[in-house]
Amino acid sequence: MTEKVVVLGAGYAGAGAIQKLETELQRVDADLTWISDNDYHLVLHEAHRAIRDPGVQDDITIPVGQIASPGTEFVKATVEGVDTAEQVVELDGRTVEYDYLLVALGSQTAYYGIPGMEEHALTLKSLDDALDIHEQVAEAASQASRNDPAQVVIGGAGLSGIQSAGEVARFRDERRAPIDVYLVEALDEIMPGQDSELQGAVRKRLEDADVEIMTDDPITEANEDAIHFDEGDPLEYDVFVWTGGITGRDAMDDCGLDDEHNRVTCESDFRTSDDRVFAIGDSAVVDQGDNPAPPTAQAAWQAAEVAGENVARTIEGRPLETWTYDDKGTLVSIGEKAIAHDVSAGPVTVPIRTFNSYPAKFLKKFVAARWIAGLTSWPRALTAWDSL
Ligand SMILES: Cc1cc2nc3c(=O)[nH]c(=O)nc-3n(C[C@H](O)[C@H](O)[C@H](O)COP(=O)(O)OP(=O)(O)OC[C@H]3O[C@@H](n4cnc5c(N)ncnc54)[C@H](O)[C@@H]3O)c2cc1C
Repeated sequence: MTEKVVVLGAGYAGAGAIQKLETELQRVDADLTWISDNDYHLVLHEAHRAIRDPGVQDDITIPVGQIASPGTEFVKATVEGVDTAEQVVELDGRTVEYDYLLVALGSQTAYYGIPGMEEHALTLKSLDDALDIHEQVAEAASQASRNDPAQVVIGGAGLSGIQSAGEVARFRDERRAPIDVYLVEALDEIMPGQDSELQGAVRKRLEDADVEIMTDDPITEANEDAIHFDEGDPLEYDVFVWTGGITGRDAMDDCGLDDEHNRVTCESDFRTSDDRVFAIGDSAVVDQGDNPAPPTAQAAWQAAEVAGENVARTIEGRPLETWTYDDKGTLVSIGEKAIAHDVSAGPVTVPIRTFNSYPAKFLKKFVAARWIAGLTSWPRALTAWDSL
């Protein structure tokens, strides 16, 4: 019997899994279908670059036809739901049946019920989001003056917030635009939960880039032109971007799988509460004992390798592999600058824990280029080099 294997999402998790499955499923009788709302893979961890320069978009999007082989059927559609009892994926007006499903739909922005946040904040989860932020920042700057600069506020100082603030600051410098950039974080330090040496290095870079950092005061409300805090005075804004948290996709509501806020919970072999469904990347909360894997590109592309293998092993009736997240360090860009922390390349750990300047910038570019090269080819990756 031909098994129907369906993969949802074309991010790091989905694209990586498709390539692994194309190899692994050669051993069994299976059809592979890949469903995503865009017909390209977005190198999302570089999406903030498009805030400064929309011209990078061709470099950071890879058409699915360059990733999947012709034998894989690609369906461009928005997943509206999954019915695990009927084993179907629900699209707009039709369904796709599966025998085995791999959920890799990523995450969406969490608003934590903060009044006015969803209505007034811009988000950064797609290329269109980044282009929208670019337009709004450019428009606000065009209406502003040195005496009355445009106020751009980024809420949330994790990887996306920090790097977005860096891009807005660089946009301001390149165009000599009258913009004040604010980075607002509820907790007492930026990059919450990270090593203090990394936090300090990132803070310094942001301050050098003239980003005003405000910590230790949660946003309690957003309205049309200002955000309000638990303690501090309200902050007026012209552009407000919220990157302060993630949650699972609405599409995974009521799908019958165990989940935490629509992020599907799964074992360390990516099996969910339904034997026929696997989940990876930001869409999943993977059991890793006391140290859950972070929702990062790095974790998603590692997971894709093992999950792809495990779907094939399930069909073959073989034991599954378990996955342990391997933290290979952190690479952060602040505009044209970069910071590297605890980076290891294969068995080699770079002896200096935290460093910046050209070596960090090179490493950051190299890691993103290596991902693109793995999906396509080194010549394709090198054409993107300047945009990474
Ligand atoms: C600005 C920014 C900077 C970041 N920087 C870093 C970094 O430096 N390092 C790092 O490791 N991580 C970084 N991250 C986090 C990283 O990008 C995510 O953890 C990663 O993208 C998760 O991969 P994924 O495949 O699970 O999801 P995604 O990459 O989000 O892919 C999800 C896929 O599903 C598709 N999809 C979503 N909903 C639907 C639907 N309903 N129907 C059909 N298709 C759908 C999407 O179009 C997409 O193709 C950053 C994120 C952002 C936003």
